[in-house]
Amino acid sequence: MKPQNKFQAQVLEASKTLPKITKEQIQWGYENGIDHIGHRTEKGMITCTKCGYSWQGAGYLVSILTDCTCPECNTKLKVETTKKKRFDSRFYMTVITAHKGYQVLRTIVLFCSARLGETTTYDYSEVMQRWIEPSGKKHCTFARLRQTMGNCYIDSWIYGTPLELRNENSNNKFYVNVYDKIYTGVIYPRQKLIPELKRAGYKKALYGVKPLDLFRVILNDSRTETLLKAGQTKLFKRLLDMGLQRNIDNYWASIRICIRNGYKIKDATLWCDYIDFLCFFGKDLHNAKYVCPANLKAEHDRYMLKKAKADAQQEIEKQLEKEAEYREAKEKFFGLVFSDGLINIRVLESVAEIVLEGKMMHHCVGGYHSKTDSLILSACIDGNRIETIEISISGLRIIQSRGVCNKNTKYHNQILDLVNRNIPLIEQRLAA
Ligand SMILES: [Zn+2]
Repeated sequence: MKPQNKFQAQVLEASKTLPKITKEQIQWGYENGIDHIGHRTEKGMITCTKCGYSWQGAGYLVSILTDCTCPECNTKLKVETTKKKRFDSRFYMTVITAHKGYQVLRTIVLFCSARLGETTTYDYSEVMQRWIEPSGKKHCTFARLRQTMGNCYIDSWIYGTPLELRNENSNNKFYVNVYDKIYTGVIYPRQKLIPELKRAGYKKALYGVKPLDLFRVILNDSRTETLLKAGQTKLFKRLLDMGLQRNIDNYWASIRICIRNGYKIKDATLWCDYIDFLCFFGKDLHNAKYVCPANLKAEHDRYMLKKAKADAQQEIEKQLEKEAEYREAKEKFFGLVFSDGLINIRVLESVAEIVLEGKMMHHCVGGYHSKTDSLILSACIDGNRIETIEISISGLRIIQSRGVCNKNTKYHNQILDLVNRNIPLIEQRLAA
């Protein structure tokens, strides 16, 4: 892709002088980024696929349940009992570097090819570079092409293609920016940083997120610098997990009070929930008395209970409101009863009654109280529910009559007949 804007053109120019990945970096990747396999035969002979050394291992369970280390080269091995004789695997590593004022993330695929009885060979290919502007607001990506046809992996790299500027939209079959999803693997420990990132308090911890996401957040929002320098790392990680940019505003006033009072937030999840409660109850989020509790757990639990009560109360009020609405809409039909001596049919007179009817009869009438054109009646014999009837008020006709679990009963036709004969009574109420 040709550069689409000035920023991309400048990065393209800068990329021309980016040094090659060094031998030391790649060697480190081979040593630290590859999981070597211990090939185990049925008889328990283990062969280290890194150095080729073989030895008689312990029993099957011991070898899969405990860590296995090669006695010859000291490499930690993942033991596989298999007849397979070739092991080809790929791993990722990322080098964090700086070039011409940009922070650059270089992701490399490491290949490891082991054949029993032969020397293990290694190779690598740099597949992706992400260039971040010092403000953190812009970045662009160079990558090799990927095989996309008939393939369900996002990272089937075509290694022969050049590292070129690529379009980063989500307009693909995965609906994601695939470059954001590429595994970054192990991070090369010697990092070269732009001064902006150093100043912001970045100390090589990645807090479980990808370096690009972390760097963009740190460079973009100076509040993260305050957090990191105050040692509020638990809170920083929590905010990253929640989506820092979307959520930090809600907590920032309280966070500043904590920092000013030297209050270390140890359980950030609990603290954020607690602040949400304070906010819900309209407490002063600038007041240390509230936001820096001596016993966070106790205060959190106290408010949690209070919130649960408030929620329950709100639920009751909502229910009452529904009842009032229902009463207003259907009151004129209340008291209607039709009977033929055996079957008694009456209009249900509250939301609660309709919900109960639905529960007892195992059908979905429970939600029908909000249907404006429906009148719900219950047919009973000796107080036992037989069928539930729904009548269209505007059409003055039966929409449905259903027994338990939506089945018709042997009284079905008798019920329909009784209702139909009494439709004029409904009509009278409607006209009143
Ligand atoms: Zn070995």
